[in-house]
Amino acid sequence: MKFQTDGLILREMSIGESDRLLYILTGSDGVIKAFAKGAKSIKSGKCAPTSLLSYSRLTVYKTRDSFNIGDARSLRIFSRLRSDVRKMCLAQYFCELAMTVCPREAPAEKQLRLILNSLYLLSESKRDERLIKACLEMRLTAMAGYTPDLLMCGSCGAYTAPTMFFVPASGRLECADCGGARNKGAVPLGAAALTALRHTVYADDDRLFSFSLTDEGLDALNTASESYIKYRFEKDFKTLAFYKTVAG
Ligand SMILES: [Zn+2]
Repeated sequence: MKFQTDGLILREMSIGESDRLLYILTGSDGVIKAFAKGAKSIKSGKCAPTSLLSYSRLTVYKTRDSFNIGDARSLRIFSRLRSDVRKMCLAQYFCELAMTVCPREAPAEKQLRLILNSLYLLSESKRDERLIKACLEMRLTAMAGYTPDLLMCGSCGAYTAPTMFFVPASGRLECADCGGARNKGAVPLGAAALTALRHTVYADDDRLFSFSLTDEGLDALNTASESYIKYRFEKDFKTLAFYKTVAG
């Protein structure tokens, strides 16, 4: 079967002298693993559009047990990411996140749009890196079916508290009075960071990245979103650890 789809190259691996094995996030089929014959050759028209972080229009041939890329053409290459090591490292974490969290061979239009938006904001320096990262982490996790319950303290029902604790293992809140600090891995959140965390989960798609937060708030927000990802997917992301060594 032959079909055309648009996809973001999440990972590229060399196969032999001239071929590539790709992991691609497509809107129509989620994450697919596909071969691109002859794509490593600079002379091949497939070289750039099958490179890491290229967003490309692809002709795909599906057989019983594999996907093969025919024609490929770049729609967007996020060139500014490539000249900034730190941003490139964060973008690679976004890719690892997508590989882990997005559906396989099932539609993923919303996830693809979210990741493309994140890469665009990162590439163009439109938002703080921590803000983009936390939004993507929380939103992707929610899209995967793990929407946390951030409405109120899970024990007493308080909507606000001077310090509210986010409990990553359960995806719930517990206030200081109810002993929130006693939960394993509990992340303390001030009022602004709590509002921001709620925003990353509950805001409309087109407003997702539209907020600002102090440095301190962004750090707390990131501690919460990273912990949540880690508990939900039981994974230490290598690309995240690497980004942190580069970001310092
Ligand atoms: Zn409480």
